[in-house]
Amino acid sequence: MPTFQPVRGMRDLLPEDAETLNYIVCKARETAKCYGYKEVITPIVESYDLLSAKAGEEIRQRMFTFKDLGDRTVALRPEFTASIARLATTALKNEPKPLRVFSVGSVYRYDEPQRGRYREFWQSNCELIGAGTAEADAEMILLTNSFLKNVGLRNYAFKLGHIGVIRGILTEEGVDEKTQNSVLQLMDKKEYDEAFKLVKHESCRKILQGLLEQKGETGFETLKNMKYYVKGHEKAEAAVDNLLDILVLVTQSECPVENVEPAFARGLEYYTGVIFEVYIPELDIALGGGGRYDRLIESFGGAQTPATGVAHGLDRIAMAMQMQGVQVRTVEGKRLVVVSVNELMKVEALRIAERLRDAGLSVEFEVMGRKISKALEDADKRKVDYAVIVGKRELNEGKVVVRELHKREQTTVALEELADKIKGAT
Ligand code: AMP
Repeated sequence: MPTFQPVRGMRDLLPEDAETLNYIVCKARETAKCYGYKEVITPIVESYDLLSAKAGEEIRQRMFTFKDLGDRTVALRPEFTASIARLATTALKNEPKPLRVFSVGSVYRYDEPQRGRYREFWQSNCELIGAGTAEADAEMILLTNSFLKNVGLRNYAFKLGHIGVIRGILTEEGVDEKTQNSVLQLMDKKEYDEAFKLVKHESCRKILQGLLEQKGETGFETLKNMKYYVKGHEKAEAAVDNLLDILVLVTQSECPVENVEPAFARGLEYYTGVIFEVYIPELDIALGGGGRYDRLIESFGGAQTPATGVAHGLDRIAMAMQMQGVQVRTVEGKRLVVVSVNELMKVEALRIAERLRDAGLSVEFEVMGRKISKALEDADKRKVDYAVIVGKRELNEGKVVVRELHKREQTTVALEELADKIKGAT
């Protein structure tokens, strides 16, 4: 018989990895709530048309797309923003603005599997809808800063850019939107020569090439260089000013910014303003990224609505924690095993186990029919804290034996005090 393995690019998260992921999910929820975001749960399967509309060619081609049995062309979500934009034009249309919503879950992209790049991965995603200010953009960066701090990461830093700089130049030079999208896709992959080949006018090509060289020692210096460089390109200049406003806000709040990238682009097509990513020095792939998308909701039939958002890559955050030796700090309750001395005590023992579970304790029941010594040895190996041994003699007096496994000490405890005694023990 063949044995089955996960499909290529898919992974099983075994208990330790699942625990780490759940811990990160928990921190993501806490952080989002702390900034006033409300959780929404949207479907993993959405219509292909919705997901593909503004995703960008790269992601569009990597979607898991199929026909359902009703002959609808659907896909597994490659990200959350399209679903949230759909909500903003339907069920949440009349909610007062700003609307702050977040989601946590798995997303799917047919990427080439490699370290930190999977076909099923987890994101926490926050969207701030209805605000077009620099404060709103700063909030996405600050929230991400808090989240990474809360999971215990160190030395991470943000890379900032503004899609309006490149689009501004390309628009003013008469490059159509479709070509602009292709240029940005290639720039995102740092394939600058290929990108610039798509730009017909020599003068425009030169401007873009020169833009790459405007990087200074700090974000502020880069912006100063850029401002000087794009002089005369009104839209690009406004984009630089906007990025400066955001940079001031985040750095004043002590958020670590590595630099501004003059020719920064991101794969998703819907961005219209600031874009950012966050990295740790040990890893050259982003832990999260986001940006402003002021026209997406309108393109889905909604009112003209400014919006900004961020997606955190939870699997990569787990990887970063491991690289930095960050411990997962879960407050685990005591673990217990209940063992009956013999067959006759089984019913009583099970009843006691149920009572302890009702009191909120984590209780395993000995289901292998082993001798007590064997059962205790096994529980000790698996780091169970206490064994509750149910025997006739003690039970006749309303008591059981409680054995602290790793100390190899035991006492007799009255049933009515049992849960409290175990909970109270340090
Ligand atoms: P994006 O939705 O492309 O802005 O991605 C947001 C974050 O998701 C990235 O910064 C990564 O941390 C994470 N991410 C993107 N693609 C993958 C992947 N294939 N595997 C694991 N994480 C990913």
